[in-house]
Amino acid sequence: MMKLPRVECPSCTRSIAAGMVAGRLSKGRIWRHDAPDTRRDTTGHLLSCAGSLEIVDLPYGQMEIPISEPEPQPEPADAMALF
Ligand SMILES: [Zn+2]
Repeated sequence: MMKLPRVECPSCTRSIAAGMVAGRLSKGRIWRHDAPDTRRDTTGHLLSCAGSLEIVDLPYGQMEIPISEPEPQPEPADAMALF
């Protein structure tokens, strides 16, 4: 599973996962989340936080491509001793 960057919701200030916005690597879309006080509307549905689906700037560095290759290991000094 991909680790999503977390950003502060501009509405409720909680830390919410942000999905990627196609073509805009420095931007993220805040995932839909319930309002902090879990208010319900007149039909009984939970209300989404006003910050849901908002496009926000991602914190610097969060969208860097993770290095998947292992760090190159230095040659053991005694490698030649094996021959
Ligand atoms: Zn929110």
